[in-house]
Amino acid sequence: GKCALVCPTNALAVVKKPSKPSDELNEEAGSKFNLKDPLPESVKDYAQDNNNKTIRSQVTPVAGGDVWSGVWVIIEYTNGKVAPVSWELLGEGRKLADAIGCGLSGVITGYQVENVIPEAFAYGAEKVYVIDHPILKDYRSEPYAEAITGLVKKYQPEIILMGATSMGRDVFPAIATKLQTGLTADCTVLGIDPETKLLQQTRPAFGGNIMATILCRTSRPQMATVRPRVMAMPERVDGRVGELIQEEFTLEEENFRTKILEFISSDARSAFLDKAEIIVAVGLGIAAKRNMVIAEELAEVLGGTIAGTRGAVEAGWLTHDQQVGQSGVTVRPKVYIAIGISGAIQHLVGMETSDFIIAINNDPEAAILKVANYGIVGDLFQVVPALTAEFKKRLQ
Ligand code: FAD
Repeated sequence: GKCALVCPTNALAVVKKPSKPSDELNEEAGSKFNLKDPLPESVKDYAQDNNNKTIRSQVTPVAGGDVWSGVWVIIEYTNGKVAPVSWELLGEGRKLADAIGCGLSGVITGYQVENVIPEAFAYGAEKVYVIDHPILKDYRSEPYAEAITGLVKKYQPEIILMGATSMGRDVFPAIATKLQTGLTADCTVLGIDPETKLLQQTRPAFGGNIMATILCRTSRPQMATVRPRVMAMPERVDGRVGELIQEEFTLEEENFRTKILEFISSDARSAFLDKAEIIVAVGLGIAAKRNMVIAEELAEVLGGTIAGTRGAVEAGWLTHDQQVGQSGVTVRPKVYIAIGISGAIQHLVGMETSDFIIAINNDPEAAILKVANYGIVGDLFQVVPALTAEFKKRLQ
Protein backbone atom coordinates (compact mmCIF):
# COMPACT_ATOMS: atom_id res chain seq x y z
CA GLY A 1 0.00 0.00 0.00
CA LYS A 2 2.95 2.37 0.52
CA CYS A 3 3.65 2.78 -3.22
CA ALA A 4 -0.02 3.46 -3.91
CA LEU A 5 -0.03 6.26 -1.32
CA VAL A 6 2.86 8.18 -2.87
CA CYS A 7 2.32 7.48 -6.59
CA PRO A 8 2.25 10.97 -8.22
CA THR A 9 -0.21 9.85 -10.92
CA ASN A 10 -2.45 7.63 -8.76
CA ALA A 11 -1.55 4.78 -11.12
CA LEU A 12 -1.42 2.17 -8.37
CA ALA A 13 -4.19 0.72 -6.27
CA VAL A 14 -4.39 -2.13 -3.82
CA VAL A 15 -7.15 -4.23 -5.36
CA LYS A 16 -7.32 -6.87 -2.64
CA LYS A 17 -5.65 -6.71 0.75
CA PRO A 18 -3.23 -9.64 1.11
CA SER A 19 -4.47 -12.22 3.57
CA LYS A 20 -0.97 -12.86 4.97
CA PRO A 21 2.24 -10.85 5.52
CA SER A 22 4.16 -10.35 2.27
CA ASP A 23 7.19 -12.45 3.29
CA GLU A 24 4.94 -15.45 3.86
CA LEU A 25 3.28 -14.87 0.47
CA ASN A 26 6.69 -14.61 -1.22
CA GLU A 27 7.79 -17.85 0.33
CA GLU A 28 4.66 -19.59 -0.89
CA ALA A 29 4.97 -18.11 -4.36
CA GLY A 30 8.60 -19.24 -4.53
CA SER A 31 7.71 -22.81 -3.81
CA LYS A 32 4.40 -23.10 -5.66
CA PHE A 33 4.55 -20.76 -8.62
CA ASN A 34 4.41 -22.53 -11.94
CA LEU A 35 4.22 -20.73 -15.26
CA LYS A 36 1.81 -23.32 -16.63
CA ASP A 37 -0.74 -22.70 -13.89
CA PRO A 38 -3.82 -20.73 -14.96
CA LEU A 39 -4.04 -17.19 -13.58
CA PRO A 40 -5.86 -16.95 -10.26
CA GLU A 41 -9.48 -15.80 -10.71
CA SER A 42 -8.88 -12.50 -8.85
CA VAL A 43 -6.09 -11.47 -11.26
CA LYS A 44 -8.12 -12.42 -14.33
CA ASP A 45 -11.19 -10.52 -13.15
CA TYR A 46 -9.20 -7.42 -12.46
CA ALA A 47 -7.38 -7.48 -15.81
CA GLN A 48 -10.65 -8.08 -17.63
CA ASP A 49 -12.44 -5.29 -15.80
CA ASN A 50 -9.68 -2.82 -16.22
CA ASN A 51 -9.29 -3.64 -19.89
CA ASN A 52 -12.96 -3.32 -20.67
CA LYS A 53 -13.17 -0.03 -18.84
CA THR A 54 -10.16 1.35 -20.69
CA ILE A 55 -11.40 0.27 -24.08
CA ARG A 56 -14.91 1.58 -23.49
CA SER A 57 -13.77 5.01 -22.41
CA GLN A 58 -10.84 5.56 -24.76
CA VAL A 59 -11.32 3.75 -28.04
CA THR A 60 -11.52 5.73 -31.26
CA PRO A 61 -11.42 3.39 -34.24
CA VAL A 62 -9.77 5.63 -36.83
CA ALA A 63 -7.13 8.25 -36.27
CA GLY A 64 -7.99 11.60 -37.78
CA GLY A 65 -11.63 11.35 -36.66
CA ASP A 66 -13.61 14.29 -35.29
CA VAL A 67 -12.92 13.66 -31.63
CA TRP A 68 -9.15 13.20 -31.41
CA SER A 69 -7.49 15.33 -34.01
CA GLY A 70 -4.21 17.12 -34.58
CA VAL A 71 -0.51 16.61 -33.88
CA TRP A 72 0.92 18.33 -30.80
CA VAL A 73 4.52 18.92 -29.84
CA ILE A 74 5.29 19.71 -26.20
CA ILE A 75 7.92 22.45 -26.27
CA GLU A 76 10.38 21.97 -23.44
CA TYR A 77 11.33 25.28 -21.84
CA THR A 78 13.56 25.33 -18.79
CA ASN A 79 15.94 27.92 -17.32
CA GLY A 80 15.10 30.37 -20.08
CA LYS A 81 16.03 27.93 -22.87
CA VAL A 82 14.08 25.73 -25.25
CA ALA A 83 15.40 22.19 -25.75
CA PRO A 84 16.28 22.10 -29.50
CA VAL A 85 14.60 18.70 -29.85
CA SER A 86 11.29 20.57 -29.52
CA TRP A 87 11.98 22.33 -32.83
CA GLU A 88 13.20 19.07 -34.41
CA LEU A 89 9.84 17.58 -33.44
CA LEU A 90 7.88 20.45 -34.94
CA GLY A 91 9.68 19.61 -38.22
CA GLU A 92 8.77 15.92 -37.88
CA GLY A 93 5.26 16.79 -36.65
CA ARG A 94 4.69 18.77 -39.87
CA LYS A 95 5.31 15.62 -41.95
CA LEU A 96 2.99 13.54 -39.75
CA ALA A 97 0.23 16.17 -39.79
CA ASP A 98 0.46 16.42 -43.60
CA ALA A 99 0.27 12.62 -43.93
CA ILE A 100 -2.90 12.54 -41.78
CA GLY A 101 -4.35 15.79 -43.10
CA CYS A 102 -4.62 17.56 -39.73
CA GLY A 103 -3.14 20.58 -37.95
CA LEU A 104 0.18 20.97 -36.10
CA SER A 105 0.33 22.70 -32.72
CA GLY A 106 2.98 23.53 -30.15
CA VAL A 107 2.36 23.52 -26.39
CA ILE A 108 4.39 25.75 -24.09
CA THR A 109 4.16 25.32 -20.34
CA GLY A 110 6.22 27.36 -17.90
CA TYR A 111 6.42 30.81 -16.42
CA GLN A 112 6.99 34.00 -18.42
CA VAL A 113 7.18 32.13 -21.70
CA GLU A 114 6.05 34.90 -24.07
CA ASN A 115 9.40 35.07 -25.92
CA VAL A 116 9.06 31.39 -26.92
CA ILE A 117 5.74 31.89 -28.74
CA PRO A 118 7.12 33.59 -31.91
CA GLU A 119 9.81 30.90 -32.12
CA ALA A 120 7.19 28.14 -32.05
CA PHE A 121 5.41 29.76 -35.00
CA ALA A 122 8.75 30.30 -36.77
CA TYR A 123 9.49 26.56 -36.54
CA GLY A 124 6.13 25.63 -38.04
CA ALA A 125 3.39 25.46 -35.38
CA GLU A 126 0.03 26.61 -36.77
CA LYS A 127 -1.45 26.94 -33.27
CA VAL A 128 0.34 27.51 -29.99
CA TYR A 129 -1.25 26.57 -26.65
CA VAL A 130 0.26 28.34 -23.64
CA ILE A 131 -0.07 27.68 -19.92
CA ASP A 132 1.91 30.40 -18.17
CA HIS A 133 1.85 30.02 -14.38
CA PRO A 134 4.29 30.81 -11.52
CA ILE A 135 3.97 27.22 -10.24
CA LEU A 136 5.45 26.04 -13.54
CA LYS A 137 8.57 28.23 -13.19
CA ASP A 138 10.83 25.25 -12.41
CA TYR A 139 10.10 21.80 -13.75
CA ARG A 140 8.32 19.38 -11.42
CA SER A 141 6.51 16.22 -12.55
CA GLU A 142 3.18 16.75 -10.82
CA PRO A 143 2.21 20.30 -11.89
CA TYR A 144 3.53 19.81 -15.43
CA ALA A 145 1.70 16.49 -15.79
CA GLU A 146 -1.49 18.06 -14.44
CA ALA A 147 -1.31 21.10 -16.73
CA ILE A 148 -0.58 19.13 -19.92
CA THR A 149 -3.12 16.40 -19.10
CA GLY A 150 -5.82 19.06 -18.58
CA LEU A 151 -5.02 20.61 -21.93
CA VAL A 152 -5.07 17.24 -23.72
CA LYS A 153 -8.43 16.31 -22.20
CA LYS A 154 -9.91 19.61 -23.30
CA TYR A 155 -8.62 19.74 -26.89
CA GLN A 156 -8.09 16.02 -27.66
CA PRO A 157 -5.09 15.86 -30.00
CA GLU A 158 -4.60 12.47 -31.62
CA ILE A 159 -0.79 12.48 -31.40
CA ILE A 160 1.49 14.15 -28.85
CA LEU A 161 5.27 14.18 -29.10
CA MET A 162 8.05 15.29 -26.79
CA GLY A 163 11.84 14.98 -26.67
CA ALA A 164 13.28 11.95 -24.87
CA THR A 165 15.13 14.31 -22.53
CA SER A 166 15.19 13.95 -18.75
CA MET A 167 11.99 16.03 -18.63
CA GLY A 168 10.22 14.13 -21.43
CA ARG A 169 11.19 10.80 -19.92
CA ASP A 170 9.74 11.91 -16.61
CA VAL A 171 6.54 13.76 -17.49
CA PHE A 172 5.28 11.74 -20.48
CA PRO A 173 4.80 8.45 -18.60
CA ALA A 174 2.91 10.39 -15.91
CA ILE A 175 0.62 11.96 -18.54
CA ALA A 176 0.10 8.64 -20.35
CA THR A 177 -0.87 7.06 -17.05
CA LYS A 178 -3.33 9.82 -16.22
CA LEU A 179 -4.87 9.53 -19.71
CA GLN A 180 -4.78 5.70 -19.67
CA THR A 181 -3.12 5.61 -23.07
CA GLY A 182 0.01 4.10 -24.61
CA LEU A 183 3.44 5.68 -24.86
CA THR A 184 6.43 4.62 -26.93
CA ALA A 185 9.63 5.99 -25.41
CA ASP A 186 12.87 6.84 -27.21
CA CYS A 187 11.63 6.55 -30.81
CA THR A 188 14.14 6.99 -33.60
CA VAL A 189 11.70 6.90 -36.55
CA LEU A 190 8.06 8.04 -36.83
CA GLY A 191 5.63 7.55 -39.68
CA ILE A 192 1.93 7.33 -40.53
CA ASP A 193 0.30 4.13 -41.75
CA PRO A 194 -1.28 5.19 -45.05
CA GLU A 195 -4.43 3.08 -44.52
CA THR A 196 -5.29 3.44 -40.85
CA LYS A 197 -3.50 6.78 -40.32
CA LEU A 198 -2.08 5.33 -37.10
CA LEU A 199 1.25 6.64 -35.81
CA GLN A 200 4.06 4.16 -36.51
CA GLN A 201 6.52 4.50 -33.65
CA THR A 202 9.85 2.81 -34.28
CA ARG A 203 12.53 2.27 -31.65
CA PRO A 204 15.39 -0.17 -30.95
CA ALA A 205 14.26 -3.20 -28.94
CA PHE A 206 15.85 -6.29 -27.40
CA GLY A 207 19.14 -4.57 -26.64
CA GLY A 208 19.14 -2.75 -29.97
CA ASN A 209 19.19 -5.97 -32.02
CA ILE A 210 15.88 -5.27 -33.74
CA MET A 211 13.90 -2.16 -34.61
CA ALA A 212 10.31 -2.53 -33.36
CA THR A 213 7.44 -0.54 -34.87
CA ILE A 214 4.75 0.01 -32.28
CA LEU A 215 1.12 1.09 -32.83
CA CYS A 216 -1.32 2.43 -30.29
CA ARG A 217 -4.60 1.13 -31.72
CA THR A 218 -7.19 1.44 -29.02
CA SER A 219 -6.53 4.52 -26.96
CA ARG A 220 -5.89 8.19 -27.55
CA PRO A 221 -3.80 10.21 -27.76
CA GLN A 222 -0.91 8.28 -29.32
CA MET A 223 2.16 9.39 -27.37
CA ALA A 224 5.84 9.14 -28.26
CA THR A 225 9.11 10.57 -27.00
CA VAL A 226 11.87 11.01 -29.59
CA ARG A 227 15.59 11.15 -28.99
CA PRO A 228 17.25 14.53 -29.47
CA ARG A 229 19.22 15.02 -32.68
CA VAL A 230 17.63 12.09 -34.49
CA MET A 231 15.20 14.24 -36.51
CA ALA A 232 16.47 17.06 -38.67
CA MET A 233 16.07 20.68 -37.57
CA PRO A 234 13.35 22.36 -39.69
CA GLU A 235 13.81 25.67 -41.44
CA ARG A 236 13.08 28.66 -39.20
CA VAL A 237 10.87 31.30 -40.83
CA ASP A 238 10.85 34.40 -38.64
CA GLY A 239 7.69 36.47 -38.73
CA ARG A 240 5.39 33.49 -39.40
CA VAL A 241 2.21 33.80 -37.34
CA GLY A 242 -0.59 31.52 -36.21
CA GLU A 243 -3.35 31.11 -33.66
CA LEU A 244 -2.47 31.63 -29.99
CA ILE A 245 -4.54 29.93 -27.28
CA GLN A 246 -3.75 31.09 -23.73
CA GLU A 247 -5.18 28.64 -21.20
CA GLU A 248 -6.00 29.50 -17.61
CA PHE A 249 -5.50 26.59 -15.22
CA THR A 250 -5.99 26.58 -11.48
CA LEU A 251 -2.84 25.08 -10.07
CA GLU A 252 -2.55 25.21 -6.26
CA GLU A 253 0.87 24.79 -4.64
CA GLU A 254 -0.56 22.78 -1.72
CA ASN A 255 -1.74 20.07 -4.15
CA PHE A 256 1.84 19.18 -5.12
CA ARG A 257 4.06 17.01 -3.01
CA THR A 258 7.46 18.18 -4.25
CA LYS A 259 9.22 21.51 -3.64
CA ILE A 260 12.39 22.79 -5.30
CA LEU A 261 14.88 23.48 -2.50
CA GLU A 262 18.10 24.08 -4.44
CA PHE A 263 19.64 23.62 -7.89
CA ILE A 264 23.00 21.90 -8.15
CA SER A 265 24.27 22.14 -11.71
CA SER A 266 26.07 19.16 -13.20
CA ASP A 267 29.61 19.22 -14.57
CA ALA A 268 29.55 21.83 -17.34
CA ARG A 269 31.90 19.77 -19.52
CA SER A 270 29.43 16.93 -19.90
CA ALA A 271 26.10 18.70 -19.36
CA PHE A 272 25.75 19.62 -23.03
CA LEU A 273 27.07 16.44 -24.61
CA ASP A 274 24.15 16.22 -27.01
CA LYS A 275 25.07 19.65 -28.39
CA ALA A 276 28.86 19.11 -28.60
CA GLU A 277 30.39 19.58 -32.06
CA ILE A 278 33.53 17.54 -31.42
CA ILE A 279 33.44 14.49 -29.16
CA VAL A 280 36.42 12.43 -28.06
CA ALA A 281 34.97 9.16 -26.76
CA VAL A 282 36.80 6.44 -24.88
CA GLY A 283 36.11 2.78 -24.36
CA LEU A 284 37.57 -0.03 -22.29
CA GLY A 285 40.57 -0.11 -24.65
CA ILE A 286 41.99 2.83 -22.69
CA ALA A 287 42.56 0.29 -19.89
CA ALA A 288 42.84 2.56 -16.82
CA LYS A 289 41.65 5.89 -15.45
CA ARG A 290 45.20 7.26 -15.45
CA ASN A 291 45.27 6.81 -19.26
CA MET A 292 42.31 9.18 -19.67
CA VAL A 293 44.87 11.96 -19.94
CA ILE A 294 45.65 10.78 -23.52
CA ALA A 295 42.05 11.43 -24.58
CA GLU A 296 41.79 14.63 -22.53
CA GLU A 297 44.84 16.11 -24.27
CA LEU A 298 43.35 15.38 -27.68
CA ALA A 299 40.01 16.91 -26.60
CA GLU A 300 41.79 19.98 -25.28
CA VAL A 301 43.64 20.60 -28.57
CA LEU A 302 40.44 20.19 -30.62
CA GLY A 303 38.12 22.01 -28.20
CA GLY A 304 36.18 18.75 -27.87
CA THR A 305 34.07 17.16 -25.14
CA ILE A 306 34.93 13.87 -23.45
CA ALA A 307 32.41 11.02 -23.55
CA GLY A 308 32.51 7.25 -23.70
CA THR A 309 30.95 3.82 -23.57
CA ARG A 310 28.99 2.17 -20.82
CA GLY A 311 32.09 0.08 -20.20
CA ALA A 312 34.07 3.23 -19.42
CA VAL A 313 31.27 4.53 -17.17
CA GLU A 314 30.98 1.26 -15.28
CA ALA A 315 34.77 1.23 -14.80
CA GLY A 316 34.37 4.58 -13.01
CA TRP A 317 36.40 6.58 -15.55
CA LEU A 318 33.41 8.69 -16.63
CA THR A 319 30.08 9.75 -15.12
CA HIS A 320 26.76 8.46 -16.43
CA ASP A 321 25.89 11.75 -18.15
CA GLN A 322 28.98 11.20 -20.33
CA GLN A 323 27.71 7.84 -21.63
CA VAL A 324 26.82 7.66 -25.31
CA GLY A 325 24.36 5.04 -26.50
CA GLN A 326 21.10 3.31 -25.99
CA SER A 327 20.99 3.82 -22.23
CA GLY A 328 22.92 7.08 -22.42
CA VAL A 329 22.87 10.17 -24.62
CA THR A 330 22.35 10.30 -28.40
CA VAL A 331 24.89 12.58 -30.03
CA ARG A 332 25.29 14.00 -33.51
CA PRO A 333 28.54 15.98 -33.49
CA LYS A 334 30.47 17.15 -36.52
CA VAL A 335 33.36 14.87 -35.49
CA TYR A 336 33.24 11.79 -33.26
CA ILE A 337 36.59 10.25 -32.34
CA ALA A 338 36.20 6.75 -30.89
CA ILE A 339 39.25 5.55 -28.95
CA GLY A 340 39.41 1.88 -27.93
CA ILE A 341 35.69 1.33 -28.49
CA SER A 342 34.50 -1.97 -29.99
CA GLY A 343 31.27 -0.60 -31.52
CA ALA A 344 28.57 -2.63 -29.76
CA ILE A 345 25.11 -1.97 -31.23
CA GLN A 346 24.04 -0.25 -27.99
CA HIS A 347 26.86 2.25 -28.45
CA LEU A 348 26.40 2.68 -32.21
CA VAL A 349 22.71 3.70 -31.90
CA GLY A 350 23.83 6.71 -29.89
CA MET A 351 26.51 8.03 -32.27
CA GLU A 352 26.27 6.57 -35.77
CA THR A 353 24.52 9.65 -37.18
CA SER A 354 27.58 11.80 -36.34
CA ASP A 355 28.74 13.74 -39.40
CA PHE A 356 32.26 12.30 -39.39
CA ILE A 357 33.55 9.34 -37.38
CA ILE A 358 37.20 8.55 -36.70
CA ALA A 359 37.88 5.26 -34.91
CA ILE A 360 41.12 4.00 -33.41
CA ASN A 361 41.23 0.31 -32.58
CA ASN A 362 43.88 -2.41 -32.66
CA ASP A 363 41.37 -5.03 -33.85
CA PRO A 364 40.77 -4.76 -37.63
CA GLU A 365 37.46 -6.65 -37.17
CA ALA A 366 36.04 -4.19 -34.61
CA ALA A 367 32.45 -3.16 -35.53
CA ILE A 368 33.22 0.53 -34.94
CA LEU A 369 35.52 0.48 -38.00
CA LYS A 370 32.52 -0.40 -40.19
CA VAL A 371 30.71 2.84 -39.34
CA ALA A 372 33.86 4.99 -39.30
CA ASN A 373 34.76 7.41 -42.11
CA TYR A 374 38.42 7.00 -41.08
CA GLY A 375 39.48 3.83 -39.30
CA ILE A 376 42.95 3.72 -37.81
CA VAL A 377 44.03 0.17 -36.95
CA GLY A 378 46.74 0.42 -34.31
CA ASP A 379 47.63 0.79 -30.67
CA LEU A 380 45.80 3.78 -29.22
CA PHE A 381 48.70 4.53 -26.91
CA GLN A 382 50.80 5.32 -29.98
CA VAL A 383 48.15 6.65 -32.36
CA VAL A 384 46.35 9.14 -30.06
CA PRO A 385 49.45 11.03 -28.80
CA ALA A 386 50.69 11.20 -32.43
CA LEU A 387 47.33 12.67 -33.53
CA THR A 388 47.37 15.19 -30.65
CA ALA A 389 50.90 16.32 -31.56
CA GLU A 390 49.98 16.69 -35.25
CA PHE A 391 46.75 18.62 -34.52
CA LYS A 392 48.69 20.86 -32.11
CA LYS A 393 51.19 21.69 -34.87
CA ARG A 394 48.53 22.40 -37.48
CA LEU A 395 46.13 24.36 -35.26
CA GLN A 396 48.75 26.69 -33.76
P1 FAD B 1 34.81 -3.36 -25.37
O1 FAD B 1 33.67 -3.96 -26.09
O2 FAD B 1 35.54 -4.23 -24.40
O3 FAD B 1 35.82 -2.79 -26.44
C1 FAD B 1 37.11 -2.34 -26.17
C2 FAD B 1 37.79 -2.14 -27.53
O4 FAD B 1 39.07 -1.57 -27.32
C3 FAD B 1 38.00 -3.43 -28.32
O5 FAD B 1 37.43 -3.30 -29.61
C4 FAD B 1 39.51 -3.58 -28.41
O6 FAD B 1 39.91 -4.10 -29.67
C5 FAD B 1 39.97 -2.14 -28.27
N1 FAD B 1 41.33 -2.01 -27.69
C6 FAD B 1 41.84 -2.63 -26.60
N2 FAD B 1 43.11 -2.23 -26.39
C7 FAD B 1 43.41 -1.35 -27.38
C8 FAD B 1 44.57 -0.60 -27.70
N3 FAD B 1 45.68 -0.65 -26.94
N4 FAD B 1 44.54 0.19 -28.79
C9 FAD B 1 43.42 0.28 -29.57
N5 FAD B 1 42.29 -0.41 -29.29
C10 FAD B 1 42.27 -1.21 -28.22
N6 FAD B 1 27.17 0.55 -24.20
C11 FAD B 1 27.35 1.84 -24.47
O7 FAD B 1 28.45 2.27 -24.86
N7 FAD B 1 26.31 2.75 -24.33
C12 FAD B 1 25.09 2.36 -23.92
O8 FAD B 1 24.19 3.21 -23.79
C13 FAD B 1 24.87 0.98 -23.66
N8 FAD B 1 23.65 0.55 -23.29
C14 FAD B 1 23.46 -0.79 -23.11
C15 FAD B 1 22.18 -1.27 -22.83
C16 FAD B 1 21.96 -2.61 -22.68
C17 FAD B 1 20.56 -3.09 -22.40
C18 FAD B 1 23.04 -3.52 -22.80
C19 FAD B 1 22.82 -4.99 -22.65
C20 FAD B 1 24.31 -3.07 -23.07
C21 FAD B 1 24.55 -1.70 -23.22
N9 FAD B 1 25.81 -1.22 -23.51
C22 FAD B 1 25.98 0.09 -23.79
C23 FAD B 1 27.04 -2.08 -23.42
C24 FAD B 1 27.52 -2.56 -24.78
O9 FAD B 1 26.85 -3.75 -25.13
C25 FAD B 1 29.03 -2.85 -24.74
O10 FAD B 1 29.29 -3.79 -23.72
C26 FAD B 1 29.89 -1.62 -24.51
O11 FAD B 1 29.53 -0.59 -25.40
C27 FAD B 1 31.34 -2.00 -24.76
O12 FAD B 1 32.16 -0.95 -24.38
P2 FAD B 1 33.61 -0.76 -24.96
O13 FAD B 1 33.53 -0.60 -26.45
O14 FAD B 1 34.22 0.32 -24.17
O15 FAD B 1 34.36 -2.10 -24.53
